Amino acid sequence: MEKHEFKSESKKLLDLMINSIYTNKDIFLRELISNASDALDKLYYRSLTDDKISCNREDLCIKLDFDKDKRIITVSDNGIGMSKEELADNLGTIAKSGTLEFKDNMTNEEKLNVIGQFGVGFYSAFMVSDKITVESKSVDSKEAYVWESKGVEGYSIDKCKKEDNGTTITLRLKDNNEDYYYDKYLDQYEIKSLVKKYSDYISFPIKMEMVHSDLKDKDSKEYVEHREEETLNSMIPIWKKSKDEVTDADYENYYMDRFSDFDKPLKVITSSVEGVTSYKSLLYIPSHAPADYYQEGYEKGLALYSNGVLIMDKCADLVPDYFSFVKGVVDSEDLPLNISRETLQESRSLNLIAKNIESKIRRELEEMLKNDRDKYIEFFKTFGVQIKYGVYNNFGADKEKLKDLVMFYSSKEEKLITIEEYVKNMGTDQEKIYYASGSSIDKIDHMPLVDQVKEKGYDLLYLTEYVDEFCITAIQEFEGKKFQNIENGDLDLESEEEKEKTEKVNTKNKKLLEFMNEKLSDVSDVRFTNRLKKHPVSLTSKGDVSIEMQKVFDAMPNDLGIKADTVLEINEKHPIAKKLKALYKEDNKKELENYTKILYSEACMIADLPVENPTEISNLICDVISK
Ligand code: ADP
Repeated sequence: MEKHEFKSESKKLLDLMINSIYTNKDIFLRELISNASDALDKLYYRSLTDDKISCNREDLCIKLDFDKDKRIITVSDNGIGMSKEELADNLGTIAKSGTLEFKDNMTNEEKLNVIGQFGVGFYSAFMVSDKITVESKSVDSKEAYVWESKGVEGYSIDKCKKEDNGTTITLRLKDNNEDYYYDKYLDQYEIKSLVKKYSDYISFPIKMEMVHSDLKDKDSKEYVEHREEETLNSMIPIWKKSKDEVTDADYENYYMDRFSDFDKPLKVITSSVEGVTSYKSLLYIPSHAPADYYQEGYEKGLALYSNGVLIMDKCADLVPDYFSFVKGVVDSEDLPLNISRETLQESRSLNLIAKNIESKIRRELEEMLKNDRDKYIEFFKTFGVQIKYGVYNNFGADKEKLKDLVMFYSSKEEKLITIEEYVKNMGTDQEKIYYASGSSIDKIDHMPLVDQVKEKGYDLLYLTEYVDEFCITAIQEFEGKKFQNIENGDLDLESEEEKEKTEKVNTKNKKLLEFMNEKLSDVSDVRFTNRLKKHPVSLTSKGDVSIEMQKVFDAMPNDLGIKADTVLEINEKHPIAKKLKALYKEDNKKELENYTKILYSEACMIADLPVENPTEISNLICDVISK
């Protein structure tokens, strides 16, 4: 017999399970049944694609049994089974992806969160049991093995005798205590009702021998027992049931079970389509990003069934990247059972379904935005980045479909608004949709040029996420109104008179400005301006690449060296302008150069750009202030 320790993270998770902070212990049965059902699905799928394996779907089933005296329950399946290695890999390690964050003294909520990230799974059996035995024979192996564990100490693996492929899991129930009556799972009606409640939709029969007692005969007072095997579940998948048979809670429970989420979904979307291609779908928008959503290994996709038979667990082609957070199930009778992954991609039916699903999700979101705005905002705060990414991805190929779903923070409304709402509220004199980019709303509020737009009475969109400006650049214009980054180029907010005045000042001080420009290799121009209200300086950009976009490029792993074409603007009304002019007049070039460098660094700091030579600049500042 081989003895093994659990991997350390599995051990901790197991410990959380055993000490059962999870109040609903009943779900262990649903988890074991769900694993058994997966094992049957896998075997059936293999038989369709692998000549060496044959099986009749009618023979596949899950069996439940219990023994009151021994206080054990068994869950068996005649599915794909597990080899020795699979027993060790699948049941010896639970923390498959990501890293678990264990802290000392975690609150219950934190513990639940940790478990939630991994789904409760097989280990949930430890909530009710103090010894678990798993006997399994893989279809690919002649030998059978038994895995056994009494909890955190570890597990053992040994050879065992088992005729047929499949898995039998035996749980020895914990002793009853004042907190919990574990013997309740030794009651046939209790088991039946748990199966009905949590596993009714499982597409294979869940069978159990029910004991009935009947009067011996009509006149007798004596009872006799007889045993009869019963199928406990209806086997009708939830998406195949008619809508009035299913409650919202049923749909939500199915989601939480199937997709291992502790939270209810934000939105349930059902559809039943009859036509050239017929299908039923049950889709969910989660209320928060799945635990592994931002990890590289995240796989989008929907479970694909052909008339109730699972043919693919995650069919990626069914949802576009911008809806990659959507979970759910699609079932169509028009897809052949033994379709391979390659031919599936070319299937006309599948493409049609994918197209329908994309527009269905989009319509539902549009409707949510219209009729249930708070919910939409909750959605957008979680998955908005994905939608904005969808707008600019593929060279903006999907922007027309998605642009109405995008929201940005509005300076006037002080909340998220759509571009359409912005345009609707524009006055007749306003030609452009103004926006500013920065790392936070507060930072943007302090940007030098924001005041000028606000003073004009115009609304301003605040772009605070890295995708935002790329998204807006892709949209280009909305109902004929162009977007304008307030720190990019001339905003055209000044009157002709004001402009002329500024031009005059710049021409008059041409030599001074040229001198300053020479001392700054990173800017293409230095100018006096009248559009700054209280700030002395500001860094703006010309051309297609804004300063915020440059930051995104800078942060990319393979720096392409794409830079914004920047201009240092100096407030003509600020005392510093006078000082600069005076220094130039006095021909104090050294001092003027120092001032130039300090001012440029200030502008960089305000724009959230790194100051390239901080030591030199801080020395210069000290020199100046100690005079
Ligand atoms: P999950 O089902 O979410 O992957 P579990 O902890 O419930 O996580 O199960 C771990 C793995 O053990 C499963 O992915 C599966 O490979 C294997 N497994 C569990 N139960 C069975 C079973 N009855 N038959 C075959 N394999 C099983």
